[in-house]
Amino acid sequence: MEQHREASQKRRLYTQFEEPNKLNINEIYERFSCRCFKCGIDLSDDLSGDAPQKVGNLDHTLPVYYLWPLTTNNATLLCRDHNGEKAEKWPVAFYTDQELRRLSALTGIDYRLMIGDPAFNPDALNWLKNPSFIETLFEKFARYPNELLRLRNRILERTGFDFLDTTARISPDWRKAADALR
Ligand SMILES: [Zn+2]
Repeated sequence: MEQHREASQKRRLYTQFEEPNKLNINEIYERFSCRCFKCGIDLSDDLSGDAPQKVGNLDHTLPVYYLWPLTTNNATLLCRDHNGEKAEKWPVAFYTDQELRRLSALTGIDYRLMIGDPAFNPDALNWLKNPSFIETLFEKFARYPNELLRLRNRILERTGFDFLDTTARISPDWRKAADALR
């Protein structure tokens, strides 16, 4: 139960960084010729289904774990099995070199970004430099703040940026709570 709640809070946290207006599902299906990019299985039947079913086959190419939103250009069409296998992996950990080159051609994502170390989305890091964005996040996650604090720790460890420094209007006690989770 606890794990389930944590997973749903994590999803909810990531939703704060999504950009739904930049997602065109039909364009993605067309781009991938309605086939799973990994195994080539035909997914065109999904197009007659409802939107949630279609979104279910779209994978964040650059993972939401690193705050990359699901946009037309960051989506890979994958069947359910391959979507589950890819999960939060960075592209180089899941695709062959040839697939990465083709994926770059199809999506416009920089090949070097996909073969490098996992990197946080710089746009999302910029939002985290906005005091009112941080204050709103703390209000939204007041009940279950741990996912937010873990995100702070992950960003701090990978980039050296501490979003708790963004605003003085967050109690210093949150820094202690976050440090205790490291
Ligand atoms: Zn597949």
